[in-house]
Amino acid sequence: MSQYEPLSDEAIRQRAPRILLVDLNNEATFPTLAIGSLATPLLKAGYQIEVFSPLAYGITALSRDVEETLLNYVLTRVHFAASPLIEWANEWLLQLYYRVRFRSTRAMADAFQKVLDETAFDAILVSSYLQYHQLLITLAGQAKGANIPLLLGGPYFNQKSVTEQWIDIPGVTAIFGGEADFVLPDIVRDMVQGRDLKHHPGVFKREITVLGQAAPPAMLTDDLPIPNFDHFAWDKHPHRLIPIMAGRGCGWGHCLFCSDVTTASTRTFRSRSMASVLREIQVQSERYQSGNFIFFDSKLNSDLAMWYGLIEQFQAVVPGARWVASVHVDGKGENGLDRESLKAAYAAGLRRISFGLESGSQRLNQLMRKGTSVERMSAFVRDAHEAGISVRTTIIVGYPGETAADLDATIGFIEAHRQYFDRVKLSKFKAIPGTGFDQRLASKPHKYPSVTRFQWDYLLARARFVFRPPQLRQYRRSKARLIKLVHRINRKSLMDEAQQFNGVM
Ligand code: SF4
Repeated sequence: MSQYEPLSDEAIRQRAPRILLVDLNNEATFPTLAIGSLATPLLKAGYQIEVFSPLAYGITALSRDVEETLLNYVLTRVHFAASPLIEWANEWLLQLYYRVRFRSTRAMADAFQKVLDETAFDAILVSSYLQYHQLLITLAGQAKGANIPLLLGGPYFNQKSVTEQWIDIPGVTAIFGGEADFVLPDIVRDMVQGRDLKHHPGVFKREITVLGQAAPPAMLTDDLPIPNFDHFAWDKHPHRLIPIMAGRGCGWGHCLFCSDVTTASTRTFRSRSMASVLREIQVQSERYQSGNFIFFDSKLNSDLAMWYGLIEQFQAVVPGARWVASVHVDGKGENGLDRESLKAAYAAGLRRISFGLESGSQRLNQLMRKGTSVERMSAFVRDAHEAGISVRTTIIVGYPGETAADLDATIGFIEAHRQYFDRVKLSKFKAIPGTGFDQRLASKPHKYPSVTRFQWDYLLARARFVFRPPQLRQYRRSKARLIKLVHRINRKSLMDEAQQFNGVM
């Protein structure tokens, strides 16, 4: 195998370096924002790019909500089982599921090899979620075989504990932990020229001793590049959803379980200017001939000026636009989610709203530092529904400290608001490194007597542990009731206007 031939300045002057972007993210029905955000600065700097997406070769992306079939109901019961008889198998089943679902198939490897054989790329950039570990090993091996340097990035690689597990994969030249919007062209240039990368903040290599120092958060100035989705197969998707972010991070940011506020691009809360967001909405709508937008903000009402501004101006910028967003129903003060604001949001095109109920128990919400009140969430779901907006919520099951009484409170809340909910997403509590829960468990383990055999798996940024709530039998019965109730709600048919946003948020 010959060594990689770095490009000289003269070679770059004569031919723009060719960069392959590999999309190991989870979005299937709309373009990947991360890839679009990498594409623009590279194109602006004069690079040639191509995008390779495994989703085009048989890997199905994760939907945020799956269709509620009987089989799905049974699988959910097994997944959430707390019976000692089944629980042992759960972890094994989950591992198996990951291996099968995100495996690297022969067809995928062949398709990737074909792409590498057809074009002489100068560098490969991979944006990856952690589930794709096996697949990444295969692709990186192929990159190595073709002598092409490969830079890996993704939401979790700002964390040293995670990055250390991935840094030695053969074929991975370096890992980038941070936001690449403004720095990527320079990093790539040094890469294709075979230069040392250690002066770039956030670049991790085994031999760079500063392993673990993520790049500082990017300033979201008005020259933030507008993502380019030209390489996405728009014709395959009837709803033509355009992803956008009006800000990064969460204005609340205290929920102990939350990993949204620990990832590379959302570690701190920053909002963009209203003018730049409206300009992006207009440009993208014209470019991709669509008025359907999905806001990827952790919570779009984090910046109330942005929230009200969008409500006021969206239709003036793109008449007939439809959009979907996630919000935080804060327990105190103004949160932009009063009845009149929600009616105005509907008039502005908001058709699906998602929020984290997490639990119908005020006690548990406080334990999670959720910062909300059950009373306020009650008013919110009613008002949003009555405004005509499709309401979706998420619930966490198994947060350490949860009891049967907490689950009963959640069941009571869902029952009482059943007619207002279109979709409810149940998730098993996941301990994630870097979260408030991680820090609290490390400093005050005695606060979590129901958690035993705790063990981190940094490769996938999760933990294995046993959660034993008091009154286990009663807890299990309540959990089964909750699963059944959610199953019934999720079988509801949706109003036409919300259909296009189902499964995406
Ligand atoms: S409000 Fe949402 S995004 Fe913000 S910290 Fe809580 S869970 Fe995370």
